[in-house]
Amino acid sequence: MLQPFISQLVIDLKYATKNNFTGRVLYTEATAYARLPVAILLKKINEQLNKAGLGLKVYDAYRPYQVTKKMWKVVHDERYTANPTKGSGHNRGAAVDVTLVKISTGEELAMPTAFDDFSEKAHHGYNNLSKEVLDNRALLKTTMEKFGFVSLSTEWWHYSLPNAADRFELLDLSFNQLKHLN
Ligand SMILES: [Zn+2]
Repeated sequence: MLQPFISQLVIDLKYATKNNFTGRVLYTEATAYARLPVAILLKKINEQLNKAGLGLKVYDAYRPYQVTKKMWKVVHDERYTANPTKGSGHNRGAAVDVTLVKISTGEELAMPTAFDDFSEKAHHGYNNLSKEVLDNRALLKTTMEKFGFVSLSTEWWHYSLPNAADRFELLDLSFNQLKHLN
């Protein structure tokens, strides 16, 4: 559980609300889980950002495999959602979707797009943006990479541990099952 392990972390799981690309509530609760190595790195990253008055906000973390299957049913397009035959880094507890916030206000820093915008604007290679937005995206990327995460070229918010598919198995524990493991 990322909270309270990282006390300052802001959690805003979009799939626990209707405010996501499927328009449906997909998570039974808004609790963010990740593998321990991910949690330890996020804690270090957040501590470093805190020194500059910033912090991480988590849009998504561990995602039960059943949810990936459900998303695939709703949006049957590999550009938008992971094909269940492969699973995603989120199913392995090895990926997170994050942005930067100001600690004092909780306000999100300006980024190229909202979360789960599947247009070209969300790509790291898209640079027709203001200097402020470019700087914010670069700050998130350099900070995450400095601590060992790898980025995804098509989603500025997505970061995972390297070689996640080889190192971590797919998990299909529900949030309720995870809660009872603690
Ligand atoms: Zn992601």
